[in-house]
Amino acid sequence: MSLTPQAGIMNIALYEGGKSSIAGHSDVLKLSSNENPLGPPPAAMAAIAQAASEVHRYPSTDHAELRAAIGQSYGLAPEQIICGVGSDEVLQFVCQAYAGVGDEIIYTEHGFSMYPILAHMAGATPVQVAEAERVVSVDTILAAVTERTRVVMLANPANPTGTMLPDGELERLARSLPATVILVIDGAYAEYAEGYDGGASLVVELPNVLMTRTFSKVYGLGGLRIGWGYGPREMIDVMTRIRQPFNLSTVQLQAAQAAVEDMDWVPTCTVLNAAQRARLAGALRQLGVACDESHANFVLARFADEAEAAAVDLALQGEGILVRRVAGYGFPEGLRMTVGNEAQTGRLIAALTNWRETQA
Ligand code: PMP
Repeated sequence: MSLTPQAGIMNIALYEGGKSSIAGHSDVLKLSSNENPLGPPPAAMAAIAQAASEVHRYPSTDHAELRAAIGQSYGLAPEQIICGVGSDEVLQFVCQAYAGVGDEIIYTEHGFSMYPILAHMAGATPVQVAEAERVVSVDTILAAVTERTRVVMLANPANPTGTMLPDGELERLARSLPATVILVIDGAYAEYAEGYDGGASLVVELPNVLMTRTFSKVYGLGGLRIGWGYGPREMIDVMTRIRQPFNLSTVQLQAAQAAVEDMDWVPTCTVLNAAQRARLAGALRQLGVACDESHANFVLARFADEAEAAAVDLALQGEGILVRRVAGYGFPEGLRMTVGNEAQTGRLIAALTNWRETQA
């Protein structure tokens, strides 16, 4: 007799993470995982060292100090915040708590690759709906809703396109969904989108909206794994029941708290990002490479076809630069490039220019 996994487990695809090394290169420029070129704020580094002296003690189970600090910085109610091991875990909480076998979770054509994985992990069925020219279509989502739909997952700004639903469309979607369907607005990149609240005001107004956020991007703490969600009290209470009491370590909690208390950090990083993002997009277009306006910390470059994207990927690796192939997101012709600092963006543009010149 062989071991039999639970029904549906074998539907779970393995998440493809980005490479972090290139054979033969010591000075690798990693622009494949949308990480912050500035790293975390210095106060977070100090907090990590401080927290290291306390690791013989168990961490907080209620995350009260971190939730208070997030609430303070973002102007949100701490009792409506839940913290997880990256926003991935918060997304997992909502799927697991609200969807099971026979239920459907809607995500869109170019949506974040964890969404169908998390749906399967909950035993639910992921339902993919088409986008219109790389932008989420509210009407297409609404048309896909059935009586089995429990959750709609949407990243805004989206990964890997960098596109955004305008506020009015996001609100129309939230208000048009049945009250029995949760709209998850995944704001992993929300800080990079100017003047955007990540969907926080919709959470305040509606009983079925959850916003998720992360410390992995603008706060530069991807390696520590901390994320959070903001939703109606009842939803937070339900999700808290399936959260392990010690899901976050003292190091994670204190680093995140110090990071979010540094009110200058987000503007410092987003100003740098906006300038280098515009520079990179401009250079790509000048080289004849298509790209949409990005509202995040990466640019999706669309080449002539899959062969060209593969060739550019190889050429960049030859110069020690890692970007992300995004065929799995429906873009065989695409390369997603993280926006680096000024020198890094210069190095990427120079490598792209070299590739173009070798073509002539
Ligand atoms: N949502 C989106 C759209 C993402 O791109 C990512 C990270 N790649 C995440 C969520 C998860 O981020 P984390 O678990 O590091 O918070």
